[in-house]
Amino acid sequence: MSGPERTVGTQGLVFEEPLIFEQGSPGRVGFSLPPCDVPQKKAETLIPPHLLRGEIPGLPEVSEGEVVRHYTRISQWNFGIDLGFYPLGSCTMKYNPRVNEDVARLPGFAKAHPYLPDELAQGALQLLWELEQYLAEVSGLDRVSLHPSAGAHGELTGVMMIRAYHQSKGDPRRKIIIPESAHGTNPASSALCGYQVVPIKSGPLGVVEPQAVAEAMDDEVAAIMLTNPNTLGLFEEHIAEIAEIVHRKGGQVYCDGANLNAIMGVTRPGDWGVDVIHVNLHKTFSQPHGGGGPGAGPVAVRKHLAPFMPVPTVEKTQTGFALDSDRPQSIGRVRSFAASFGVMVRSYAYIRSLGPDGLKLASETAVLNANYIMNRLKADYHLPYDRVCKHECVFSDAEQLKNDVKTLDIAKRLMDYGFHPPTIYFPLIVPGALMIEPTETESKETLDQFIAAMKAIAREAKEQPDLVRAAPHKPRVGRMDETRAARQPVLRWKPKG
Ligand SMILES: *Cc1c(COP(=O)(O)O)cnc(C)c1O
Repeated sequence: MSGPERTVGTQGLVFEEPLIFEQGSPGRVGFSLPPCDVPQKKAETLIPPHLLRGEIPGLPEVSEGEVVRHYTRISQWNFGIDLGFYPLGSCTMKYNPRVNEDVARLPGFAKAHPYLPDELAQGALQLLWELEQYLAEVSGLDRVSLHPSAGAHGELTGVMMIRAYHQSKGDPRRKIIIPESAHGTNPASSALCGYQVVPIKSGPLGVVEPQAVAEAMDDEVAAIMLTNPNTLGLFEEHIAEIAEIVHRKGGQVYCDGANLNAIMGVTRPGDWGVDVIHVNLHKTFSQPHGGGGPGAGPVAVRKHLAPFMPVPTVEKTQTGFALDSDRPQSIGRVRSFAASFGVMVRSYAYIRSLGPDGLKLASETAVLNANYIMNRLKADYHLPYDRVCKHECVFSDAEQLKNDVKTLDIAKRLMDYGFHPPTIYFPLIVPGALMIEPTETESKETLDQFIAAMKAIAREAKEQPDLVRAAPHKPRVGRMDETRAARQPVLRWKPKG
């Protein structure tokens, strides 16, 4: 067979599905109730008039079976990690073990009410406290706030703590240094906290040079935000020296640890001199994500920042565990209650089931898989930084552009081979970037199928560029006008006629 030995299916029994409003017929219902055996009252006698709707707009009139088939069918138009390989760089789309789900559904966890008094929630509080200890150990720092609901929220919380810390010494300072390779959330979080962003360039090897930091560093700089491993998938090897430069002038070192998947159990940010790091549980610690599900971005801090953590914290007392809101220097609340609890249970189960050796093996395997892909594809795709990578590798379309085939075309063509495209056009410092993160949970067979598909596309780009430019050909919907979809979205159903 030419091309990939086997492609994963995006063809087959896929139904064209009309809107649910276009299905059913007048009077059809999805329920049957016994006759009413109590006196009926008019809605007007029970509901205040301003809350009564005059007319019910076109609700669908369908049977239960039609509803189930409708949603099951449209669910099959989606792609997820349970369907196939999802190498979305910087997103760590690893397979999520089902045991985490089992544990999160234990009634004592799933049904615990957030307003339970501490003495009736000891198990839940103990889980939060222990998870904090594990994340502190992995990050090499002292305390961890489990509150933030996402990576970006963790950044905001972390920068607010940095600001409160400087403020407590009489001067919040004005600026934050951020490399140009950073995720867009870094400058956004800094700006939200009132800081001016000072961008710096990475050096020729794809990492930040201490010299560039020294030049940008002064007493007005509150912090540097450094992603490590960075968005090129490279380890910032000068980070300890950079931390020293920043500390010498009274700045703080923030590490964007969204991509901890390359370093768990291998090296610890706290040991590099980092003061604050957020960790995405929905990336490294196996919380399902994609499609906007719940996530969490706990922030770990060094001791001197602990007084500023959001309230409530979970504390170990002489008799058990308790929430503590009596923290006068705290930045306050950043969310309701104490955490997205179900997310914490899954990540706790993940850490406990892997153990320290398992976490380390996961990181080592993630790095091995990324380097395997990088080395097998570098003859076919331009590799702007040809060095050992960490959890991901970044190619560009420079080679394919000679035949007028762009990164977007390559990404779309991958769908014909049954693979979710990688992250594209990010990081911004690589024009036409293709950012591939395989994670540790993929088999060698899957990696080889993906590599074969990428090689086939590189060949097609030379021999049949039109075919690649018009991709995808096999999914239900072909190439879309993405600009128009963003500029003129149709989000509301309108009754016909
Ligand atoms: C994913 C990611 C973020 C943002 O995390 P969210 O949970 O999406 O807010 C920040 N920085 C890096 C490097 C990331 O990969």
